[in-house]
Amino acid sequence: MKVDVLISGMGLAGTVLAETLIQRGKSVAVFDPCSHVSPSLPNNLEAQREEKLNSSRIAAGIFNPINQKRFAPHWKFDEFYAKAMPFYQNIEIESGPPLLHLLPSYHIFKDAGQQNDWLTKGCEPHLMKYISPNPKIGLELVKQPFEGVSFNASGFVNTQALIEQTIDRLTGTPTSNNMVTGWRPRQPANHFINEKLDFAKLEINTTINYQNIEAESLVLCNGFADWQNPYFPSLPFYPSKGEILTLEIPDFSTDCILHNGVYLVPIGNGVFRCGATYNHINLNDAPSEEGKAWLTKHLNNLLKIPYKIINHLAAVRPTVKDRRPLLGKSLTHNNVFMLNGLGTKGVLMAPLLADLLCSHIFDGLPLPKDMDIARFY
Ligand SMILES: Cc1cc2nc3c(=O)[nH]c(=O)nc-3n(C[C@H](O)[C@H](O)[C@H](O)COP(=O)(O)OP(=O)(O)OC[C@H]3O[C@@H](n4cnc5c(N)ncnc54)[C@H](O)[C@@H]3O)c2cc1C
Repeated sequence: MKVDVLISGMGLAGTVLAETLIQRGKSVAVFDPCSHVSPSLPNNLEAQREEKLNSSRIAAGIFNPINQKRFAPHWKFDEFYAKAMPFYQNIEIESGPPLLHLLPSYHIFKDAGQQNDWLTKGCEPHLMKYISPNPKIGLELVKQPFEGVSFNASGFVNTQALIEQTIDRLTGTPTSNNMVTGWRPRQPANHFINEKLDFAKLEINTTINYQNIEAESLVLCNGFADWQNPYFPSLPFYPSKGEILTLEIPDFSTDCILHNGVYLVPIGNGVFRCGATYNHINLNDAPSEEGKAWLTKHLNNLLKIPYKIINHLAAVRPTVKDRRPLLGKSLTHNNVFMLNGLGTKGVLMAPLLADLLCSHIFDGLPLPKDMDIARFY
């Protein structure tokens, strides 16, 4: 099989890149050993319990414009947001089941100092544009002695469903959900290979050869696993393990994402996601008692009502020391590239990063210096 691009890794980076390439009329083949599960349930708890979870499949998928600690807009937020929204909306139109959920973020002030801080900062025009009316539903069941502030340009993407739908397109497997909407595969079937790509067996010359596949380029989207790879040695990854709970809170509903040091995301039917921890030492995907205790401590400070934990998951985020993405070409091979370093903001950043990388590979456009891997060469 001949393809334009061979992708290693089908987390958010590989998925968004595959969709972007296909939209540009390019053919792709993607390798990933991750469990392939039906997207028929938007938040498939059984599937989430399976082994080989990646960071993208357990992520809450949220995006919002403001750093809560500093009350400053996130790095390049407007640029990323302008690309991400139409990207997810278009996939949703083609695929059927909802992926993108727009809802405000309500940030609860932790003390009087933070409340005062906001009284000054909240008048600055670059922050004012994100302020939205306070949520109407559920705040009476939330502890907020110092009140809070609500921001628009916020919401969440169901990352697990996004990945599964893209795998279905690549394998040519229509599910009951996407058949209803006139689903069609984007390219011939069997372009998702449910295996690990073995670097030792890659042949890289003017083309890339692997098993029966010949590709013009290879892009590594292996998340945290790219920490050690032969084509981009010594990149300053600073991976961070994250833990997240799924909760049932039957008596509670809200029309926003709540933040008080943890976030609480309403995903429907009385089910919520609560995350996340940050740990740079124990880099594994085992949920820990410490992680659970930290999350529930914040939850108990947030909710006046009881909740039931129905799931607890962990994975490692591909974070970089300077907190910027890793985009670009290998020093040793002209046809080997990387899309990585999505850190804590994969949902927001991935669509623009994938587009920039495609323009770099196919149109020869330079990458922004603060994203280009070359900053470490
Ligand atoms: C608890 C938690 C909550 C989070 N919440 C959010 C959130 O709310 N919003 C947000 O934007 N981000 C969130 N994130 C971060 C987000 O998950 C990451 O930014 C993003 O998912 C990283 O995507 P990735 O594709 O680079 O890596 P991954 O998701 O780790 O995917 C890498 C993939 O590469 C595959 N792979 C590795 N080696 C090989 C190989 N040799 N061959 C083939 N495949 C290989 C792996 O199997 C894996 O599927 C969260 C992360 C965690 C852990």
